[in-house]
Amino acid sequence: MSSSHLPTRTAAAGLLLLLLASCAPHAAPKKAQAPKLLSPSFSLTTSDLRGMTAAMPAKIQQAILAEPGVFLSEMAAILKEPSIYFVLVDKQHALPSDYIPPELVNLKEAGLSVSRSDLVLRKSVMPEVLAMVHKALEDHVLLLFSSTYRSYAYQKWVYAREVQLYGKKVADSESAVPGTSQHQLGDTIDFGCICNRFASTAAYRWLKDHAWLYGFSMTYPEGLESVTGYRYEPWHWHYITPAGTTVQRDFFDDVQQYLLVFLYDNRKELVSHYLGNDLGRGWQAASEIVTPVGAAGASAGPAQ
Ligand SMILES: [Zn+2]
Repeated sequence: MSSSHLPTRTAAAGLLLLLLASCAPHAAPKKAQAPKLLSPSFSLTTSDLRGMTAAMPAKIQQAILAEPGVFLSEMAAILKEPSIYFVLVDKQHALPSDYIPPELVNLKEAGLSVSRSDLVLRKSVMPEVLAMVHKALEDHVLLLFSSTYRSYAYQKWVYAREVQLYGKKVADSESAVPGTSQHQLGDTIDFGCICNRFASTAAYRWLKDHAWLYGFSMTYPEGLESVTGYRYEPWHWHYITPAGTTVQRDFFDDVQQYLLVFLYDNRKELVSHYLGNDLGRGWQAASEIVTPVGAAGASAGPAQ
């Protein structure tokens, strides 16, 4: 009987000795533990990430904090791409009047279906554009390009004409103030009729399922006017790279605006905590290419 108690008593005595030893005055003080890093790609802690996502809708913040390691590895993939694909251009953030994309390529000459012969896009997006068009054709879907790069001067002319014809209030509800159109970036496409009917076409259904694989994202989804500043535009697709569309789908409720606002607000923090040595072009720039615009450009309306 007593033999079965022996080992227990011995173990208890050992434990007591250990406890006494750890309480002894000469025991070395415990080192303060450094906050745990969430990813090998960034020197960021849970507390940092909580602060960086505080302005996001609760659903998005929760998704990011639930899988911070996955989120940051997807962020690292974004930082390897050129930063120009993640510039926030909206009613509150305008491109400079002299911004012109480098190397524009004529789409008709590239063999694409166009509604006008003078349509051009940024050369760097053409490999993805051509791959997307060819895959659509394999699936018996023809993608018609109706509007692509639009210069600041052209947008200024359109806007001034609207003001002249209908007054500023109506113009602001129907036309983008020059500098605030994604089309000036040269990586944005309006497909088909540029009208609501496009949402019921095979081309739209195909884009909705496949465009993200080629880095294209629909900028103005249905029911998000208060977030994007524009009504539903099923025809308007903007290139943010496949790394961008992946993180948009996985963590930003599949809303491009939330992703681009997050990157705009946190780009310096992300870059300064990035541990890799392969930052994409432009990410090191201290200043943004866009500048905040006044409240005059903040009214909602179709962007086209
Ligand atoms: Zn458009």
